[in-house]
Amino acid sequence: MNRIRPFPVAAWLAAISLTVACASAVRTPAPGPVSPIVPVAFGLRVAEQYRVAAITTRRFTHETFWRAVEPSISSGALRSEEVGRSLQGRPIRSVTFGTGGTTVLLWSQMHGDEATATMALADVFRFLAEASTDPVRERMRARLTIVFVPMLNPDGAELFQRESATGIDINRDARQLATPEARTLKSLRDRIRPDFGFNLHDQSARVLAGPRGRQVAIALLAPPFGVDRGYDDVRSRARLVASVIARTLGGEIPGRIARYDDTFNPRAFGDLMQQWGTSTVLIESGALPDDPEKQRLRALNVAALLAALDAIASGSYAGADPNAYESLPGNRGGASDVLVLGGQLVLPGMPATRADIALVYDDALARTGAKVRDVGDLREAVAIDTVDAAGLFLHPQQASLTVENGGVWLRIGAAAAIDLRRGADAASELVRTVGTPGESPTPNR
Ligand SMILES: [Zn+2]
Repeated sequence: MNRIRPFPVAAWLAAISLTVACASAVRTPAPGPVSPIVPVAFGLRVAEQYRVAAITTRRFTHETFWRAVEPSISSGALRSEEVGRSLQGRPIRSVTFGTGGTTVLLWSQMHGDEATATMALADVFRFLAEASTDPVRERMRARLTIVFVPMLNPDGAELFQRESATGIDINRDARQLATPEARTLKSLRDRIRPDFGFNLHDQSARVLAGPRGRQVAIALLAPPFGVDRGYDDVRSRARLVASVIARTLGGEIPGRIARYDDTFNPRAFGDLMQQWGTSTVLIESGALPDDPEKQRLRALNVAALLAALDAIASGSYAGADPNAYESLPGNRGGASDVLVLGGQLVLPGMPATRADIALVYDDALARTGAKVRDVGDLREAVAIDTVDAAGLFLHPQQASLTVENGGVWLRIGAAAAIDLRRGADAASELVRTVGTPGESPTPNR
């Protein structure tokens, strides 16, 4: 799998020092695009070095999170305050770093089961709280006031569900502001009037980059502020920041970054933040192979956020190429998890039937609880993984079959464990098995 590549620290630090020296020599408070964008390796190194070890999986509670970040919060470099309470009374806290003139607001986990960015923020806090001198940290401290609201939906996080305790999707409550969580975010925005915003989410693992692309690890959006999806200065700045992130992560997860659908949603926070004048970027963490707890995505979030924040601090975002964002493939949902193409389906005692089979997992990240989604001519279907079964015979295992009144059925929705064999004979050579053999149809996850 992908590993952190060696990174020419000296060369890059030299570039930063040079930039800082030039900037201070001419005393321009907000220089143009003269600073380099921090490379992904810097953020990945921070993610590794400052990883908060108390958080190791994507499901954790409000209490666990705040206990884990307490050492960073109490360091003196960060300022924390309660900005609201959830419906069930859990404190919603902001964490602020820096005293600069440009204000940035980041909020995570307004959907309670979307915790990747919250994990990343724990690591970012630890990096920001560190006492040693780091040019990126110092530049952000001097030029930005960064206000983080991690885990905006603590009641949802408690049960690891998307919605708030009322069942309301907080990201469809930006217009009505019926929930205390949405009101908290709106009143904080109105108080600090951020120049930039980051709306941090997780998206389905079953999304491809383009019609037949790879599984999306990160999707980006500079949300529209109206139905015509036009660009004013506010949205244009957001697009430049999104371009910085696309460029930063591009070499690390090639083909796995997509652009989120930009249909205007009059109830969503990203869209209304843009309308309210905050240049807002949506970051959606999707999935990566062999990363069921999203720990690698957590590190990529750290890298994306540090690159974006530093580009805002230095002003270098203004020199980004908007095409780095515009040229991203669109998010394409609806994929199955596994598609078995080209085989012959064999039910016991029946002649073989030419059939493709699509499977979905109950848990697309852990890849457990496979179910039959579709059977037949599926040549136009898309999936995260496609298995070429040309010349092979598909033998559903017993657990996949319904046997009743002397008949045998393969039913849609059945637990999927399918043996791919060389012949129609159930005793012929086994090539591989797809699905999850031996699992109960609905695993307790
Ligand atoms: Zn979400």
